[in-house]
Amino acid sequence: MGTNRRNFIKNTVLFTVGGLALPRLTYSNMKGRFPTPGLKLTFEPYDLQLKHVFTLASSSRTTTPVMLTKIECEGFTGYGEASMPPYLGETQKTAARFLTALNLTQFTDPFRMEEILEYVDEAAPGNTAAKASVDIALHDLAGKIMGQPWHKIWGYSPENTPNTSFTIGMDEPDVVKQKVDEAAPYKILKVKLGGPNDKEMVETIRLATDKPLCVDVNQGWDNKEEALEMVHWLKEKGVEFVEQPLPKNRKDDHAWLTEHSPLPIIGDEAIQRLCDVQEAVGVYSGINIKLMKCTGMREAHKMINLAQANHLRVMIGCMTETSCAISAAAQLAPQAEWADLDGNLLISNDPYEGVKIVNGKITLIDRPGIGIREV
Ligand code: MG
Repeated sequence: MGTNRRNFIKNTVLFTVGGLALPRLTYSNMKGRFPTPGLKLTFEPYDLQLKHVFTLASSSRTTTPVMLTKIECEGFTGYGEASMPPYLGETQKTAARFLTALNLTQFTDPFRMEEILEYVDEAAPGNTAAKASVDIALHDLAGKIMGQPWHKIWGYSPENTPNTSFTIGMDEPDVVKQKVDEAAPYKILKVKLGGPNDKEMVETIRLATDKPLCVDVNQGWDNKEEALEMVHWLKEKGVEFVEQPLPKNRKDDHAWLTEHSPLPIIGDEAIQRLCDVQEAVGVYSGINIKLMKCTGMREAHKMINLAQANHLRVMIGCMTETSCAISAAAQLAPQAEWADLDGNLLISNDPYEGVKIVNGKITLIDRPGIGIREV
C-alpha cells in the first residue's frame, strides 16, 4: 500500500473518530476507489506454559490452551486471542469449530464493528473466548488503520491506569515466600483463597510482605456468616477487597454480605456479560470485567459505562493470557479502579510484547490498535 493511500485512510478515519463525519460514508467512499476483498480471519492453537503450577479452589494446572487469531484487511493485520482455562468449558476444538463457521469475508468495512461483532455473537451461543478472539483482532485492525491506540480513540487518559495486582496461588509456605519475592515490583498482591488453610495462607504472605492484598475466593466459601467473619479478619490483615466469596448463584447471600461487609465485595464468576451488570446492583460493590467472559473489548467498554452509571466499582481482570489479550484489556484500564492484568506475567512463552508494568502500574504504549508486536 502506498504512503499516500495509507495517509488517506489514517486521516479519513481520524476525522471520523472526532464525530465530525460519518464513518460508513468516508470508508465506503474510500472503498469505492480501492475495492476490498473482505476481512480474512485465520487462527492457530497455542499452549501457554505456566511458570508455576496454578492452583484455584477447584483445580490445578501447568498449561492453558489458547487460540491466536489474525484478521487481515488491506495490508493491515489485527491480532486477537481466546484464552480457555479448562474449567470454563471452551477448548481449542470448540474455538476452531466456532471460528471456522464464521464468514468474515462478507464484511469489507472493518469499521462496521457493531454489525460485524453482532454477527459473530449471534453465530452460536456461548463461545465467549472465541468471540473475544475475533473482537480483539478486529479492534487491533481498526486501530492500526486509524493509526491510534484504543485508549486514545476512547478518549481515556493513559496515566490514569491503576496498579495491577500480581496473583499468588495457594501453595506450601516456602513456595509462597518465593512467589512473594518474585512479586517485588508489584504494589498489590492477589491471594487465591477458598481452600482449607485460608488464614494460614494469608499469615504466610504477611510474614513475607506488608503490601496491600486483595483476595479472590472463586466461590470457595459456603456460609455467609463465616464469610463475614473472615472478611473482618482479612480487613485487619490489610486486604482491600474480596472477590466472589460465595457460589455465584447465591445472590441474596452476596447482597447480605455486601451490606454488612467492611470491604468491597466484587462479583466475578456471577457477572459475565453486559446483561449481568444490572443484576449486580445491590448485590455486589463492584464487578470484575474480563474480555474472555464478555466477548471482548466492545462489550467490556459498554459494561464499564453501565457499571459506572449504576455506581458499581469496576475492576478489569484476565485469564492466563499472552500480551495480546492483556494489552487489549489494558486499553480499558484507565476507567477501572482496580486491575488484575498479570496473566502474561505468569507464562514463560509469550509470543507477543505489549503493555508493560512499570513500578507495578499498567503503562500503556502509544502504538496503534492494542499496541502489541510479535517477538
Ligand atoms: Mg476472580
